[in-house]
Amino acid sequence: MIEIKDLHKSYKTGKSELHVLKGINFSVKEGELVAIMGSSGSGKSTLLNILGILDEADSGTYVLDGVPIKNLNETLASQYRNKFLGFVFQSFNLINYKSALDNVALPLYYQGIKSKERSEIAMQYLEKVGLASHSHHLPNELSGGQKQRVAIARAMASHPKVLLADEPTGALDTKTSYEVMELIQGINDEGKTILIVTHEPDIAAMCKRNVILRDGLIVEDKYITQQRVTANV
Ligand code: ADP
Ligand code: MG
Repeated sequence: MIEIKDLHKSYKTGKSELHVLKGINFSVKEGELVAIMGSSGSGKSTLLNILGILDEADSGTYVLDGVPIKNLNETLASQYRNKFLGFVFQSFNLINYKSALDNVALPLYYQGIKSKERSEIAMQYLEKVGLASHSHHLPNELSGGQKQRVAIARAMASHPKVLLADEPTGALDTKTSYEVMELIQGINDEGKTILIVTHEPDIAAMCKRNVILRDGLIVEDKYITQQRVTANV
């Protein structure tokens, strides 16, 4: 599903240059649930943003579901994002003046789906995340965990090939974090390929595979056998 080879990325600020990714080689098969770990500043978000076609590497190759991702103009980049990818963020990124239902339905608008069908699909996905009864709530009428469920429903509604989540539990308490991770595990059980950035070992332990970044390189890449341990909190 994802194949990257010798990926490099630097940021230039003024005269200085920061080499963040120094040759990342990594591939992900369909149906994997991968945690990308590493200390703050190790380049996790930089890598996820490149995988999400929100940013481009300086060199190296990236092939997503057989499609080379290279030199895309903004129109094509946005088309590929809509077609291939779903995003979940630490800060939820919901639209504050839209209901839960309308938040989930919005990406479907950009896929040209008609209003009535958009609402039906959005409702199905709210049901899937256990929030059908909250469809008319605004984001500020939802708890953090509920907001993240809405964000996950929104990401899933357009049938992405890959779900990318940057610190999806970063703003949640421990118990809620586990609940959100259980939801993510359930989505993965249905076959979805999922990559999560996290610096929390307990969250990574709930993924099937852990990849650790340090100094711009992958220093560890291991499969986890027991990913169902959820603390009783
Ligand atoms: P992580 O997500 O692992 O905390 P990031 O990928 O966000 O790390 O950042 C890696 C390094 O690159 C950090 O030192 C950060 O300050 C720097 N960085 C990130 N984005 C930019 C940017 N747009 N411009 C300049 N430096 C950046
Ligand atoms: Mg980050």
